[in-house]
Amino acid sequence: MRICVIGCGYVGLVTGACFAEIGHEVVCTDNDGQKITTLNDGGLPIYEPHLDEIVRQNVAEKRLSFSVNLAEAIRFGDAVFICVGTPPLPNGEADLSAIDNVARLIAVESRSPKLVVEKSTVPTQTGQHVKRALSIYGRKSGVEFTVASNPEFLREGTAVLDFLHPDRIVVGVDDRGSEEQLREVYRPITEQRFRCRVHNDSCPAQKPHFLVTSINSAELIKHACNSFLAVKISYANMVADMCEKLGADIDEVTQALGLDPRIGRHFLSPGLGFGGFCLPKDIQAFIRLGERAGVDVSLLKSAEAINKQRIESFCNKARQLLWVLKDKRIAVLGLAFKPNTDDIRFAPAIDLINRLLVEGAQIQAYDPEAMGKASAVLPSVRYCHDAYELTDGTDALIIATEWPEFKNLDWSSIRDRMLRPLVLDGRNLLDAAAMKALGFEYHSVGRETREGKTNEQPERTVHSREV
Ligand code: NAD
Repeated sequence: MRICVIGCGYVGLVTGACFAEIGHEVVCTDNDGQKITTLNDGGLPIYEPHLDEIVRQNVAEKRLSFSVNLAEAIRFGDAVFICVGTPPLPNGEADLSAIDNVARLIAVESRSPKLVVEKSTVPTQTGQHVKRALSIYGRKSGVEFTVASNPEFLREGTAVLDFLHPDRIVVGVDDRGSEEQLREVYRPITEQRFRCRVHNDSCPAQKPHFLVTSINSAELIKHACNSFLAVKISYANMVADMCEKLGADIDEVTQALGLDPRIGRHFLSPGLGFGGFCLPKDIQAFIRLGERAGVDVSLLKSAEAINKQRIESFCNKARQLLWVLKDKRIAVLGLAFKPNTDDIRFAPAIDLINRLLVEGAQIQAYDPEAMGKASAVLPSVRYCHDAYELTDGTDALIIATEWPEFKNLDWSSIRDRMLRPLVLDGRNLLDAAAMKALGFEYHSVGRETREGKTNEQPERTVHSREV
């Protein structure tokens, strides 16, 4: 099939590259000309594991191309996937101006029938507005449009594998033809009929569910899903606070909770809270949507409030331990909102650093992938080449992102480099007993720190920010 993807960000680029990977002809376009130039020069505007290889291969095999010309790209596709951003407005509602712009452009520029697919996360009933815009602005051309919603569930850091091996594909349609077209688009994935060049053991063996719903339901499913995950993380954080105050251990508690199949072990990791371009804005948008509809959304509001409080209470901990923050040299390990991405949008690390800077702390930071993006928003931070340079002469180290490689650092060397071997682990990444045995003052979230604790660390395979 010939597919146009509008928006070459974390979702659009992965969507375009993966559609090409499963055999479709794809043109990706974006109104940010710099991104298209970077892509046409063989670079990538984002870091995402495996994306580099599948983009390169599919460009070489002539199934994937990038165009600055939005109109041409739209005319190329039988299906047009909208993957533009839907950031939060100051009042928390989703900013739908990019969706509106793109819908009007598709209406005006199309010359043949199009299936227009919303992949961006949008509030319920957006599809009805898109339909109306297509019919109003497309009336001169007489082109026939159909609209579908196909929310995306990929997680940054594992986006390519998530896209190629999803657990479910949701399509919201109002007509049989759109359903058939989307079944065709996804058939190689639903029937596992393509050779996955990036396959690894984490890819599920079973075929994904293909769920056909109304457009309104498909839109609501995505917000309901992300809001549920946000509630679950905030619940774990609330329980962690209880553990800390009452002398229990959150790792022990969440291990037992997670073994209950009605609860499940995912998204129970406490810490600095959820961030990124999905959960914070999606729960906000869902709250506003519910309020407008007259629904009691206090459950969601509490989850959001708990999350906002995480950074403040972590700063309080830092203040208690360091007494005065002004002129203290603090190392921050991890900037991205989660491991394996360079995305710093709504990253707790960025919020935390801003607060510490306001109090006069001197911040130095290291992240394997996110320093480029962070330096644009935090120019006064000193960026280091590695975790060892990072910790030289510092008064404290804060772990803000749980990159797995941080576990395997030479922590004895880090202890010797620090002025004061104080570690505040905002992600419960390290083993508390081992850190204490090494001579660190080690503080984490909701974990009991009694001496001689012998329980093994529960396996932590999925972290709370994995969206
Ligand atoms: P992004 O900011 O990385 O990418 C959006 C792209 O759209 C940008 O490259 C931007 O230049 C382009 N764009 C904006 N307005 C445009 C216009 N009028 N015409 C053409 N291009 C335009 O955002 P993202 O992370 O890819 O998210 C996109 C959507 O997908 C959002 O609605 C988001 O909520 C949703 N989503 C994101 C994720 C994720 O993990 N990032 C996962 C699932 C769903």
